[in-house]
Amino acid sequence: MQSYSFFMPTKVVHGEKELVAQAEQLRQFGKKCLLVTGKNSARLSGALDDAEEALKSQGIGYEHFDRVENNPSLENVAAGGEVARRYKPDFILAIGGGSPLDAAKAIATLATNQIDPDELYSNKFDHTPLPIVAIPTTAGTGSEVTPYSILTVPEAETKRSFSVPELFPKIAFLDWRYTENLPVPITRDTAVDALSHLVEGYLSRRATGTSDIFSEQGMRLWAKCIPALRKGEFRPEDRDRLLVASTLGGITISHTGTTLVHSLGYSLTYYHDLPHGRANGVLMGEYLRYTAKHAPEQVSNVLGWLGLANADELATLMKDLLGPMVALAEDEIKEYSAKAIRTKNIGYSQGEVTEDVLSKILRDS
Ligand code: NAP
Ligand code: FE
Repeated sequence: MQSYSFFMPTKVVHGEKELVAQAEQLRQFGKKCLLVTGKNSARLSGALDDAEEALKSQGIGYEHFDRVENNPSLENVAAGGEVARRYKPDFILAIGGGSPLDAAKAIATLATNQIDPDELYSNKFDHTPLPIVAIPTTAGTGSEVTPYSILTVPEAETKRSFSVPELFPKIAFLDWRYTENLPVPITRDTAVDALSHLVEGYLSRRATGTSDIFSEQGMRLWAKCIPALRKGEFRPEDRDRLLVASTLGGITISHTGTTLVHSLGYSLTYYHDLPHGRANGVLMGEYLRYTAKHAPEQVSNVLGWLGLANADELATLMKDLLGPMVALAEDEIKEYSAKAIRTKNIGYSQGEVTEDVLSKILRDS
């Protein structure tokens, strides 16, 4: 019998306008808040207005760091860390896609620990990071319920994640209205990221009887959104389902980690500027074909829950939603495989993953 524990300390509040309705929940974290966002999306989504209203209603003072870049770098989070060390907030309220949410986790850590940003990867800190309240405005990363922060490390020419359990946000507010203005391409890219968490999590060697409950339900919800994703038209219930599916994906990977898809996808983002979800999605068909050799029953469950007949149909769906894979030269394929094989997620994939296996997946995608 497999031994495992299940730990999900984030309080998830789901519903419209609950951030304002339940503003008194913010009081427990203190009197000073640092808002962490990207440039435009927080305001555009309506979440920033709600957050400001909620903070003001509780007499909580705040400053706003709105300079989080997409795929934030160590330098970018260091700038946020500086603001936090000067302002000394009691907690952080992060609004945005995975980029601001992940940046907030790094800033929360740098705020209480006098360390250089590259020391975040020690995953050991003298002082507990500041509490984080997370408000997703994309339905993709699930970062609002994970302890992971994924940052771009230019010297290593890739992305790396750090994590400690204290980085699980204390509260996540899920309000589909904040994703309503997402342009269609970003909706699709981020939805595919959520799907990849659900699929990779379910197919991970670390999957458990409990994580399977979340990944299965997430895939079933996601499947209901396939027609909307294809059409590029989203009703409120589609937006809500995608958001919940994304959170279920986050709960899943908090326990299972991701697998080789994410390991390879980081290079496609770093070198070819593919958005994170698209970088995963273009590999998904081949990943399923590979995994079916080692875990045929699980792969057939995934396809069944998604309402797809085989891995070819998944590959076609991904192509329809995301466009074609970037063309890669043979030396790029070798280099990305060599980089990916060094990541720990490789060990969570099924079978014996070698550089050749990874190269074949990249080539055949
Ligand atoms: P993102 O990089 O946070 O945002 C992508 C773009 O969407 C940005 O230009 C952003 O604008 C815009 N945007 C966000 N919400 C919007 C809205 N409601 N309306 C209009 N535009 C909006 O995208 P993401 O895919 O959510 O996050 C990707 C990052 O998360 C990557 O760094 C990835 O590695 C990481 N990730 C983390 C985890 C985890 O467990 N922590 C898991 C998977 C991925 P602004 O610039 O104005 O904000
Ligand atoms: Fe991801």
